Amino acid sequence: MSFWTSFAKHVILRVFSDGDNARGPERSEERPCRQCGRMTPVEALWEGRCIRCRLEQEQQQDRQNHQKRQYESRGARASGNNSQGIDEAYRILGCQASDSDDEIKKKFRVLIKECHVDSLPKDLPDYLVKAANKRFNEVQEAYDLIRQVRKIT
Ligand SMILES: [Zn+2]
Repeated sequence: MSFWTSFAKHVILRVFSDGDNARGPERSEERPCRQCGRMTPVEALWEGRCIRCRLEQEQQQDRQNHQKRQYESRGARASGNNSQGIDEAYRILGCQASDSDDEIKKKFRVLIKECHVDSLPKDLPDYLVKAANKRFNEVQEAYDLIRQVRKIT
């Protein structure tokens, strides 16, 4: 079993057992997404919005910024300089260079979990599933880069 398959199973098992054990200390608080109103675990809300709304917005921005972003990422790679890439990586994880390794790890786990195909709402339209897959890869790449730079084990 690949790491990601087993990781996903672990996450799903935890999500279900959290539900069964509603009074457990690890049960996360839920709040409504401020855009669509869906109840969402607090740690999965980003600026008050759920994954679905963020993916929607990302899709729109993507269409607008597609060429600009391609150009920028090519430039960053061509320069052989990681400094731009690392800023982007922190931005993707919603972290800052001053955050602790633990904070970054925690943020990564939340993001990678909510973008995982098995965590997505069942009625999510295809184009948002694709956006989530793309986001999954982005988050993974961003974390890999940060981990490499900070030598997180
Ligand atoms: Zn929402």
